[in-house]
Amino acid sequence: MTNYVIDPPAISAVPVAGGGLFPVRRVFCVGRNYAEHTREMGGDPDREEPFFFSKPADALVINGADMPYPSKTKDLHHEMELVVAIGTGGKDIPEAEALAHVYGYAAGLDMTRRDLQGEAKKAGRPWDMSKGFDQSAPIGEIAPASHSGHPSAGKIELTVNGRVRQSSDLSKLIWSVPETIAYLSGLVALAPGDLIFTGTPEGVAAVERGDVLEGEIAGIGTVRARIV
Ligand code: MN
Repeated sequence: MTNYVIDPPAISAVPVAGGGLFPVRRVFCVGRNYAEHTREMGGDPDREEPFFFSKPADALVINGADMPYPSKTKDLHHEMELVVAIGTGGKDIPEAEALAHVYGYAAGLDMTRRDLQGEAKKAGRPWDMSKGFDQSAPIGEIAPASHSGHPSAGKIELTVNGRVRQSSDLSKLIWSVPETIAYLSGLVALAPGDLIFTGTPEGVAAVERGDVLEGEIAGIGTVRARIV
């Protein structure tokens, strides 16, 4: 018997295609990782090193559950992303060995309070409340790499109410999955259960209550969320 003075928090877990649950430890996100999105956000894709922020593991929205429109924003944006699920940890993982640390991949949405993010950027403040709010990360089933392989190309697309809003290709990632794992594992020791949202292509825009978001990554899977 452990001596916790309150009940320990529940573990967030993402269903795996074919059965089982992937328990989540931490959720990392890459800031700008497609050139066209970097340009639409006013950045220079040629000069920036990758940078990272985090969401709490319990911000995940699982199984296509509804996502409540969050408080304190009038500009909730979608960011459709490839998510990497880390199966074995490590520090300073070499690029050439990085894919061996991947359990699988999923389609995810890095939902963003864009107005709060804009204010934070201007004031040089953290992004936590613009990115890591409650229920800010809808995610689909994880495809085990043993079945899906390790995609370095393939269509990544998001529709809102059936209309295409974001459409790109994984080959346009500025920092590839192995490069991202190598870089991030130089900053922190990665551990089993960590997820990495790898950044969004261009076409980010606002959503409203009632909108239905449906994302798909070729060969990996789908993510669905209705804003309520
Ligand atoms: Mn993002």
